[in-house]
Amino acid sequence: MRGRWLALALAATALVTALAVLLWPEVADARVGGGQSFGRGGGGGRGGGGGGGGSGDLVFWLVYLCVRNPSLGVPIVLCVLGFLALRAWMMHDNTSHRVHRTGGFVPSSAHGAASLPAVRPGRRILGIDGLRSRDAALSVPVLLDYLVLVHRRAHEAVGSDQWALLLPFVANTARLKLLEAHEGVRAVSEVVMGGVSIEKVERRRDHDHLYVRFESSRVETLADGRSRHVQVRERWVFRRKAGAVSLPPDRISRLGCPNCGASIEVSAMGACRNCDSAITAGQLQWQASFVVVQSRQRALAPEIGFTDGGEESSVHEPMVQDPDLPAAMRGLTARHPDFDGAAFGKRVEHVFVSLQTAWSANRWHDARPYATDRMYQTLRFWVEGYARGGLRNHLANVKLERVRIVKVEVDAWYEAITVRLWAQMIDCVVDAQGQVVGGNASVPRRFSEYWTFLRTAGGSADTQGDAPGCPSCGAPLDQVSQAGVCGYCDSKITTGRFDWVLARIEQPEAYTG
Ligand SMILES: [Zn+2]
Ligand SMILES: [Zn+2]
Repeated sequence: MRGRWLALALAATALVTALAVLLWPEVADARVGGGQSFGRGGGGGRGGGGGGGGSGDLVFWLVYLCVRNPSLGVPIVLCVLGFLALRAWMMHDNTSHRVHRTGGFVPSSAHGAASLPAVRPGRRILGIDGLRSRDAALSVPVLLDYLVLVHRRAHEAVGSDQWALLLPFVANTARLKLLEAHEGVRAVSEVVMGGVSIEKVERRRDHDHLYVRFESSRVETLADGRSRHVQVRERWVFRRKAGAVSLPPDRISRLGCPNCGASIEVSAMGACRNCDSAITAGQLQWQASFVVVQSRQRALAPEIGFTDGGEESSVHEPMVQDPDLPAAMRGLTARHPDFDGAAFGKRVEHVFVSLQTAWSANRWHDARPYATDRMYQTLRFWVEGYARGGLRNHLANVKLERVRIVKVEVDAWYEAITVRLWAQMIDCVVDAQGQVVGGNASVPRRFSEYWTFLRTAGGSADTQGDAPGCPSCGAPLDQVSQAGVCGYCDSKITTGRFDWVLARIEQPEAYTG
């Protein structure tokens, strides 16, 4: 009899937990930066953390119940699955997009902030250190740019006869998976990256493998000529023959022969017609070998009302700081005697404010000089989402409370500095008539994020701080092209060659160091 009561109690617990998890707002999936998704509550002051833990408990109790008392457990599991299916269907129609914002700002001289959260040592991408030791030319920012490029080109090749040009970068196995996933689609265009992350690096037999997650939006044109804007999550696997080393960034972005650089023309034997080296099986360059489309949804406007104002849990997340930070800082100043921490802080603030102003005004192009190509495109993904919905994410009263450097890294191509920042601002969504339709127009939200800035390695590390104007020629920034080239001096100013540029934004809930 006691078993029966226990089972009933468990059933009640499971049901209550199930309802709690199902009705809980699923906050902040796919935010900008790492592209990770979060199954947790939190953000926006309307949930607090712990959603993820709740669903873990739920699964445990349901399994336990099924074992203890299948006649109760099995129907409950069926009910829960029904709920999940219903919710998935609803999310399909209502879009699941959560807004990300560029946030507010001010440099290290903080004011009025509470004490710092506990410090936690950083973690790296699983297996990345091993890869780095085998490939001294490896640069994660360069690699990510390459992965995004191949992802975009592969999608643009759907429905075209351009696949032969991609053979060294997309294996036939991956091509077939992509075509299978796009049945009935005649063309894919306007691919905008929402997030890319390398989950792990694995050495198997004689190849290294990268496991990569992508979230992007794109326009798909169907066979009947109609087109739809969709938002897709995928997992890709890339492979590269062990012993191969990374190419320089400019060579990579041309997608030419990985050996000689000539445009791709492959013989029947899979060799470059120009230099005769075998290039179609990941011998010299990362080649996509497998693709899984995890979800595909209609892309609508970002969901409004992401935040209710107030303090968010991100503020209190432990501070993930590289254990080698002191040595890395000494290394930075030894390599660059011209590095000035205060000026760097000014630059961070200037970039932050510029991005936020552009964001709030739906004039995203104004942010072009301050971010790498990938970062710029990533944030565009969100701004365009608002614009599609006839909305604008209005930000005001921005105050930066504190900025701390948590990581300094150098690789073959880039110096990278990651800061943790705390800020507050009014954050609401307004429609075309200026009516507030989401967020809180009177209570500021307080939040924290990690921002990573890049500068080309081997050159200077100085900065013009908050001086306006082109970092190369000093002219106004009113002639910067979509590609990040200043119209006055023809310099590409978004690579980190002339000043620090923003490369990544990550949420404390996801940042691992
Ligand atoms: Zn060649
Ligand atoms: Zn210029």
